[in-house]
Amino acid sequence: MNDLKDKVILTVACTGAWPQKTDTPYIPITPEEEAEEIVRCYEAGASVAHIHVRDDQAKASMDFEKFEKTVQLVRQRCDIVINLTTSGGIGLEDEVRIRPFRELRPEMASFDCGSMNWQNNCVFENSPQFLEKLALEMNAVDVKPEIEVFDAGMVYNALYLLKKGYLKAPLHFQFVLGVPGGIAATVENLLFLVKLLPENCTWGALGIGKQHLPIMYAALALGGHVRVGMEDNIFYSKGKLAESNTEFVERTKRIVGELGKTIATPDETRMMLGLKNWNKKPVM
Ligand code: ZN
Repeated sequence: MNDLKDKVILTVACTGAWPQKTDTPYIPITPEEEAEEIVRCYEAGASVAHIHVRDDQAKASMDFEKFEKTVQLVRQRCDIVINLTTSGGIGLEDEVRIRPFRELRPEMASFDCGSMNWQNNCVFENSPQFLEKLALEMNAVDVKPEIEVFDAGMVYNALYLLKKGYLKAPLHFQFVLGVPGGIAATVENLLFLVKLLPENCTWGALGIGKQHLPIMYAALALGGHVRVGMEDNIFYSKGKLAESNTEFVERTKRIVGELGKTIATPDETRMMLGLKNWNKKPVM
């Protein structure tokens, strides 16, 4: 095993909840399309796949069968770390958000650590009671929470849940900068957020849309991990759509290499994050 301090965990978020084929024809939507894209990203070097699913109309969904199919197809073909969303839509019941990770036992799942006015449009609700329940449910099945932070107060929510024993150290954070209603995607804001973190933790960051690259470079310079993919940004460069999520993976690999680091393999990622579920996955 190489020295893990020079390893960068690269998460790919291929699908997300929102982009449609009318936004980019290259977005993978069905379980088959998404699994194929994830396997290609794995072959290009990605460490973790953050998975959303869509319903038959391609709308945001937490449909259990779609998650089950997607996870099954990915696990048949590669050992990439699987990270399921718990937020595939707005206004969903707790059980609908919890069931996929409880039954499919991914190694990680997203933990959106507070509520916000989502894109000046609706309330993305993650109540204190829901977060306590979510943490307990994740602990019960050894799923590592990826604490998604859209604004500074969400770091403090995580520290509160840690102090109360709902979340367990070491925490892993993912800063999502640039969603309207949350903190803007600037390098200064990222630095401010990183300074709020407890000592013993890991973190990654991403900027939405055209702030994708500056936030990636800043995160790497600060020793963080990174996320790419069409969930966050559909353009490879100004006016040019990415034709595959692998283009983002390949570019990130080059950037990380120029910094004298390498992308963590899935097994290195498991060691770095203390993931537990790989050998306990349900047989499908
Ligand atoms: Zn997501």
